[in-house]
Amino acid sequence: MKTVKFGGSSLASAEQVRKVCDIITADTARRLVVVSAPGKRTNSDTKVTDLLIAAAEAGLTHRDGSRELQRVVERFADIATGLGMAAESVDPIRADLQQRLDADISDKGLYMDSMKAAGEANSARLVADYLRSQGVDAHCIDPAVAGMILSDEPGNARVLRQAYGRLRSLRERPGISIFPGFFGYSESGRLVTFPRGGSDITGAILAAAVDAELYENFTDVDSVFVANPKLINNPRAVAEITYREMRELSYAGFSVFHDEALEPVFHAGIPVAVKNTNNPAAPGTRIVLERRVGDVPVVGIAGTGGFCSIYVSRYLMNREVGFGRRLLQLFEDEAIPFEHTPSGIDNISVIVREDIFDHATEQRVLRRIRTELLADEVSVQRGLALVMVVGEGMRHTVGLAARATAAFARARVNLEMINQGSSEVSMMFGVKDHEVDAAVIALYAEFFG
Ligand code: ASP
Repeated sequence: MKTVKFGGSSLASAEQVRKVCDIITADTARRLVVVSAPGKRTNSDTKVTDLLIAAAEAGLTHRDGSRELQRVVERFADIATGLGMAAESVDPIRADLQQRLDADISDKGLYMDSMKAAGEANSARLVADYLRSQGVDAHCIDPAVAGMILSDEPGNARVLRQAYGRLRSLRERPGISIFPGFFGYSESGRLVTFPRGGSDITGAILAAAVDAELYENFTDVDSVFVANPKLINNPRAVAEITYREMRELSYAGFSVFHDEALEPVFHAGIPVAVKNTNNPAAPGTRIVLERRVGDVPVVGIAGTGGFCSIYVSRYLMNREVGFGRRLLQLFEDEAIPFEHTPSGIDNISVIVREDIFDHATEQRVLRRIRTELLADEVSVQRGLALVMVVGEGMRHTVGLAARATAAFARARVNLEMINQGSSEVSMMFGVKDHEVDAAVIALYAEFFG
């Protein structure tokens, strides 16, 4: 049994939905299918989820959201008519959307999440209806009934352990199950969504729950590329990559796959295939537990901005028991997750995401570091980007750091930080935000040029 997920661009129009249905029926093992909401048809188009969010924002502020809602209805109607379905097939979708928009707004998180989930819920309904109209035994699954149980965190939910046991029974369902991505329910029955792009997570949870032989993730590119094709003309394709490598690259801005999505399949050891709905014959990229490292030690290069670094120094820090713990405790008190902590003998930097470290928080944290930890020096550097060179082969290859730093020097990119992660599958470089693209281009030229 394979679990298959289709992203928003694969469901954006009738033509795309036809391709999706052809792919589903081409392999009898594709019995559990996760769908996203219709995404963009062209670059300037708007995703259905974004329209739903706009409608919800109107609803929450007592404005009229019916225009946005009408656009969503039209998107579904376009798909249905393009598929040759009867005009009435859109009636239940329209009614469902209206009901969500008219719902009580006292619980803002619930209201917003229920609107956001409408894209996937109705997309799944439409695909199942269409498949049935073609004589295929397909059913739309209700995540509440199937047991997609999530933590009660609107817009940021996580799967709860007990969900896996309940979802396992999907294995036994006859025919093809069409499962809406992106949302589930809390233990008390409240609808909650994953972070944006979360249908990938739904697919991975289901693949792990039913112990699928493969998790196929269909998107709109032939494969994962070694570096961002927006920066590098015609970059090399990645045929095979390990979960660890993919995780590190997703972290640094690889946008093919939601980074949280790999966890369930990684733990279950289920291989993932990234494939193209528009070119299903292309081999795509396989994500596996282990791979044979060839001549090229590096598998990918990525960079992303939006970080800041809090530098703390104190003479003889290395002799002071508990300094690191007390420093990180300050961040915990402020509910700020830290990303990395590169350190020296008498200094340590805490790297955090800039968007959760506003000016007021910065003032508070800095004051506490000075007064409670008696630091000699504390400073903050904003506008930091992290660039990662990733590859399982790095561990056994001498001189990679030298090649990377030489490439930076040639491109006149100034290095703010180097962090050779203990994972040994990546090297991380801190550069200024505005130099991140130049850094990725320089590294690509060095390792793949
Ligand atoms: N439709 C949701 C979003 O746009 C989830 C997804 O497509 O994965 O974020």
